[in-house]
Amino acid sequence: MKVTSSEIVISAVKPDQYPDSELPEFALAGRSNVGKSSFINKMLNRRGLARISSKPGKTQTLNFYIINEILHFVDVPGYGYAKVSKKEREAWGKMIETYLTTREQLKAVVLIVDLRHPPTSDDVMMYDFLKHYEIPCVVIATKADKIPKSKWQKHLKITKETLDIDPNDQIIMFSSETGYGKDKAWSALQSFM
Ligand code: GDP
Repeated sequence: MKVTSSEIVISAVKPDQYPDSELPEFALAGRSNVGKSSFINKMLNRRGLARISSKPGKTQTLNFYIINEILHFVDVPGYGYAKVSKKEREAWGKMIETYLTTREQLKAVVLIVDLRHPPTSDDVMMYDFLKHYEIPCVVIATKADKIPKSKWQKHLKITKETLDIDPNDQIIMFSSETGYGKDKAWSALQSFM
């Protein structure tokens, strides 16, 4: 998809703050520092729209972006940041759970993992949560440029095995540095629209 416009609509916490719109939505999830902001910016051809690593774990809001006036990206705050209190973690969990399990406009979740390393226990928990609630998902294995191409298949296999990925789910190798995988990622999202 050729992105010609993208802008933030609202930072929401509660359902009554979600945009009053029927447009299809895609939520972006991943542990903090995985490369989620970079993924969003690459997909939207924007440099600083989603903030890159300013304060890990600090954006405790759901950030809605409107793209080409036809769909929303919903940036979910990153998980797994060690310095977050139990209370904050619980508030995060409630906000995400409410959004993911009740939002009818949600078409799929884009789960972003790091191709270099096996998915973390938090990644596995998030994936299992999506499977449990039967929420469609696409897995993006990012930072592919950081490992030699000769090792991609090996890392992909470890990623799939660690997540115990459903063979029907798409997993796409990606690089926000080079743009590798961008067209594939857009095609995957468009298949849900
Ligand atoms: P977020 O916390 O998940 O939003 O992660 P960021 O997008 O802020 O990325 C964390 C760090 O990883 C930053 O220094 C990025 O420049 C870097 N990064 C993210 N994606 C890639 C990628 O595909 N390739 C490389 N080489 N670096 C990346």
